[in-house]
Amino acid sequence: MKLIPNGNNPKSLIDAFKVAGVKPALTDLNSPSFNEEKDPALIQHLETPINLDGMSYTDQVKVTKMINLVADKAPKSGKPLLEMAAQRGYSIAMEFAIGSNGGCSKKDKRIVLSPLEEFNTLVNVLTHECTHVFQYKNGAMDFENRESPRETDIKSEIMQSRAAEAGAQAAACEIAWEIFDNGEIGPYRAFNKSNKEIAEAYASATYEENATTNGTAKTAAFLAWYDNNPIKFSYESSYQIAVMEEHKQTNTDKFDTYSKKVSGAETTSTMCLDIDGKNYFTEDPSVLESGKYVDIADETKQSLTELLNHRESKHGLKPDASVEELPSRGLANTSGTQVVNQANLEQRRALANARISYYNSKEENMDSENDNFAESNIVCSSKNNPQTSLFNRKCSSSR
Ligand SMILES: [Zn+2]
Repeated sequence: MKLIPNGNNPKSLIDAFKVAGVKPALTDLNSPSFNEEKDPALIQHLETPINLDGMSYTDQVKVTKMINLVADKAPKSGKPLLEMAAQRGYSIAMEFAIGSNGGCSKKDKRIVLSPLEEFNTLVNVLTHECTHVFQYKNGAMDFENRESPRETDIKSEIMQSRAAEAGAQAAACEIAWEIFDNGEIGPYRAFNKSNKEIAEAYASATYEENATTNGTAKTAAFLAWYDNNPIKFSYESSYQIAVMEEHKQTNTDKFDTYSKKVSGAETTSTMCLDIDGKNYFTEDPSVLESGKYVDIADETKQSLTELLNHRESKHGLKPDASVEELPSRGLANTSGTQVVNQANLEQRRALANARISYYNSKEENMDSENDNFAESNIVCSSKNNPQTSLFNRKCSSSR
């Protein structure tokens, strides 16, 4: 999930925040309750607590509740994941991350949650982002990294970046399900709302015996991620095109070699691990090397071709031939079963303002318990489409 605005997030979104006069971060270090040892509301049910980075007291209480919900109600899948992130020195911050509802920075060892999202969604964002921490631990590359040269060929890159997101969603779904199983429906309901295809794939799989323990349900959730074309397009734009554009502009595209190939099996061995290190993927991993798992939109194909041609004419470097192996799924906005009903600028502003004023009023009330901001308050909403809400996670929305 992204921490910074990119080509995918129009300038108008930033303007929407400027108009609303939102400050980017909230800090209340002088709160009398800042010392967590003295305040029971800030005690985390973890062996190693996660550092909460520069957030208001209200947010500290709120995030502590999220952590404890996961630790208490998902002791198998969730708690060890949070422990792992804490042990690796990651902190959690609450910040406006325009265009997404959270993020994970490998470089800064920092997980960011958007204060504009409601509690249960953020529980899922938290577990999604912690799964990225786990993937980094297992050797995954940082797809947000724009500074390093790209060594992996584009097809392998697409395979890996999609598997990273599908894996993070599968893990978030599994954890929400375990929480649900232990009596708390909120996070799974929120997950289902913005990631219907994944949530349903997981739930359907559980009719089979042992599906939640033998990897079947998690694999079904993982594979269902690929049915959402708008999400795939969104990642093509931000993980492939935007990075390549930047390398073109800084003239560093000459360092991109695209020389390394990665197989489906290598991909699942990094991205499809349970927290105990066991590979949960029950299907043939080579499935990820073709068909819808690597298909790209026509617009993506065109941009990739142009960028590679530029690199060839400027630096004399042959285009990455792996792009030829990527099947087309047609135009981005018309392909697949889900039609993107992109909100217009006015709708996005209304959405941003509604969420911001809701958040501000909550800050004043210090009422983190009664977190009932409803999607129905939002002008633009098409329930099952993750792209229609600008804050819906790219990462978990399903970023
Ligand atoms: Zn993600």
